[in-house]
Amino acid sequence: QAKISGSSGWCFFDTSMPEQVRERSEIDAGLRIALEQDQFVLHYQPQVDDDGRILGAEALVRWLHPQQGMISPGRFVPIAEQNGLILPLGNWVLWAACRQLAHWADDPRLAHLTLAVNVSANQLAQADFVDRVLAALTETGAPAKRLKLELTESALAQEIESVIDKMNQLKEHGVSFSLDDFGTGYSSLNYLNRLPLDQLKIDQSFVQGMLQDTNSAEIAQMIVLLAERMGLSVLAEGVETPDQQVALQKRGCHQFQGYLFGRPMPAEEFERMLLGRD
Ligand code: C2E
Ligand code: MG
Ligand code: MG
Ligand code: MG
Repeated sequence: QAKISGSSGWCFFDTSMPEQVRERSEIDAGLRIALEQDQFVLHYQPQVDDDGRILGAEALVRWLHPQQGMISPGRFVPIAEQNGLILPLGNWVLWAACRQLAHWADDPRLAHLTLAVNVSANQLAQADFVDRVLAALTETGAPAKRLKLELTESALAQEIESVIDKMNQLKEHGVSFSLDDFGTGYSSLNYLNRLPLDQLKIDQSFVQGMLQDTNSAEIAQMIVLLAERMGLSVLAEGVETPDQQVALQKRGCHQFQGYLFGRPMPAEEFERMLLGRD
């Protein structure tokens, strides 16, 4: 028998526990060490316009595990959200992203790029969230206007007045907001109307479904119209084929992200892609 410390105190397990539970415990314990030893890295996935011009990137965190190699955030972010480690991890991401933005700001060929950073519900709920973001911007020298925070609908399932207030404070400094995975959560249209958002992100499930089923296509269309009516921009994620891009363009979407334009990649590779030398 072994024991590990979880967010709710001590829990015991033995070697007969299901594989999934064991993996979870390993990740839980490993994350603490990973934070101390700086085992995380950001990859950058291009966001492009109709002509394929790169407008910016989304920063996606990866865990470079000394034994297991690269671990995708789908495996550890949900666990970090449960055990509280998303707060130090999210802060690390924010600082790393701001350092990257500050670096781009120094190069006239890269200074126009925006960087989208995912923010979890627990991070946004912190009383000092605004101060943390402003500190990262100020101390790295990153331009606030180039920082875009991606929230999910679950991040908005907290006291809405406080969320609106935090968003407005950051917007005063030039930070913008995008609603990630839109249509997959529980957002009420009433909240949507009150949030000072700048962009809706069409979830990849609709993008990938839109050539197969009419429902996905209708939902994608509805999101574009909703964004237009609300004066927001709209970006489709998970675009993998030219046919999907054309279908989105026909429905009025003109910003894209997906394997068709580039996978998430290390900063150096992203910059090489932009500067067009290999
Ligand atoms: P997300 O924010 O919706 O990010 C998009 C995910 O879709 C990324 O997976 C990306 O690699 C993947 N993707 C992009 N284009 C395509 C495509 O054309 N086809 C397909 N099939 N997939 C595509 P990734 O990097 O594994 O991230 C998964 C999720 O983990 C993210 O979803 C986000 O919710 C979370 N995450 C990633 N980085 C962070 C972070 O720094 N902080 C927080 N809080 N969450 C993060
Ligand atoms: Mg995202
Ligand atoms: Mg997304
Ligand atoms: Mg997603």
